[in-house]
Amino acid sequence: MVTVRTRFAPSPTGFMHVGNLRTALYEYLVAKSQQGTFVLRIEDTDQERYVEGATDVIYNTLQQVGLQHDEGPDCGGEYGPYIQSERKDIYKPYAEQLVREGKAYYCFCTKERLESIHGEGEFGGYDRHCRDLPEAEIQRLLAAGTPYVIRQRVPLDGATSFDDAVYGTITIENKEIEDQVLLKSDGYPTYNFANVIDDHLMHITHVVRGCEYLTSTPKYNLLYEAFGWEKPVYVHLPLIMGKNEDGSVSKLSKRHGSTSFQGLLEDGYLAPVITNYIALLGWCPKDNQEIFSLKELEQAFSIDGISKSPAVFDYDKLLWFNGEY
Ligand code: GLU
Ligand code: ZN
Repeated sequence: MVTVRTRFAPSPTGFMHVGNLRTALYEYLVAKSQQGTFVLRIEDTDQERYVEGATDVIYNTLQQVGLQHDEGPDCGGEYGPYIQSERKDIYKPYAEQLVREGKAYYCFCTKERLESIHGEGEFGGYDRHCRDLPEAEIQRLLAAGTPYVIRQRVPLDGATSFDDAVYGTITIENKEIEDQVLLKSDGYPTYNFANVIDDHLMHITHVVRGCEYLTSTPKYNLLYEAFGWEKPVYVHLPLIMGKNEDGSVSKLSKRHGSTSFQGLLEDGYLAPVITNYIALLGWCPKDNQEIFSLKELEQAFSIDGISKSPAVFDYDKLLWFNGEY
């Protein structure tokens, strides 16, 4: 039997919101409910979005909740998380491999050119200007030290389909997918590219993440197909909504109350109570049990209990869980 391996792969861009924490918890539970391995990977290759201190917030939150990862680089007798910026040199050879195989190409377009064509390519994306440059021209530009990015040569016809464990079969026409950048001009991988390479290298079997990634998953799959790698099982999680005063619901935001783990702790909720409550945002236990310790969740959790309809974060219910009424 293949060992289940999951990862929590946050980008350090701010606080641990309720949605991030639920993703981490479900990744952990998918692994632990099947005697699997849970990996922590910090996706920090996008230097522009990096927020100082955010990695510590992620780390501390996972520790407070008890979501201990099972492997990683040795940090003096303890496992550290995998950190993508420290793995920078791993990704480039994979992009170059695709270039050699004709599945990716160098794009020398300047920022000005890309801005000027904005909206002119199909679906408002890149117009594939460098897709078929003559080899001599490519060599000349490279020899002259012209900055470039590497883009995937996305098939112009056909469609990319995948089965999501929660949402079923999703299909997107390939022509709707831009020739995505894999390697940026600073030599860093794009975040989609690093994500796929690492999921492959780390033998991840289940990718659990918010449903905002559902429509970009075909882009990831085109990369698995280009390399001929086996795809993971995708488990996309439903949206989390907040309850308004009039009883209606809308996208969870600050006006509903604290939306970060830290904020909820400061409001006086205990970590195990927050965890228990968040576990039920999108997952329905088989019986009517509502109060769970983390250990009990590890026993009870299963992917087929995840619902695709939006979950509602209800602060009154959280108070009830906290024993306040
Ligand atoms: N780094 C992505 C994020 O923070 C993770 C996406 C994924 O789990 O594949 O949202
Ligand atoms: Zn170009």
